[in-house]
Amino acid sequence: MTAKARSKAETGRRLQAQSRALAAGLAKIGREFHARGWALGTSGNYSAIFGRGPLQLLITSSGLDKSALTEQSFLEIDLEGAVLAGAGKPSAETLLHLAVVGATGARCVLHTHSVWSTLLSDRFAEKGGLAIEGYEMLKGLEGVKTHEHREWIPIFKNSQDISSLAGEVLEFLERDAAAHGFLLSGHGLYTWGANAAIARRHVEILEFLFEVVGRREFSALRESRE
Ligand SMILES: [Zn+2]
Repeated sequence: MTAKARSKAETGRRLQAQSRALAAGLAKIGREFHARGWALGTSGNYSAIFGRGPLQLLITSSGLDKSALTEQSFLEIDLEGAVLAGAGKPSAETLLHLAVVGATGARCVLHTHSVWSTLLSDRFAEKGGLAIEGYEMLKGLEGVKTHEHREWIPIFKNSQDISSLAGEVLEFLERDAAAHGFLLSGHGLYTWGANAAIARRHVEILEFLFEVVGRREFSALRESRE
């Protein structure tokens, strides 16, 4: 074997090990999210970038029960969405993951379908988004230093035409690079981070904030009707 071929094989092995470790980490996050009620049944999907050079994405294979994710539950795809390795087909929402990665430079994108994100994305859909401000927990979002921060979470109308939805998301993120997430109406949350730990934290923080805003909103609504 030539030195060049040896180094290529070595890079291949390193990438494989990196991909397996990332997949195991994402599977653990996915099982946790299922246990916390944020992605039940086959809902939700998770992805992470691996490798250098031409970027490759590891993403959940479509239709899997999220309580039982393992490192085998992920596919390797290129940035056009073509499958490079793994069994099954990529999630229908792959284009949204690719839009986020392309616009923000994030290395991990997590998508959940919780009760509070579903309720709030419905309630605020007509306003095109939801502002959250004044809460200490906002400081759990990367780069936020004070509870006085105002986080705008845009809400895009849910659609099965993922390609045009991805276009809208891309347009928004190109305007607002500091955004931490967005909602799809009646559907769920997308958030991301420079690595899986940060993206996981963003889900946890945003889910907490959605519940706070949701409980506040819906109890105010009840009181106004009484
Ligand atoms: Zn979804």
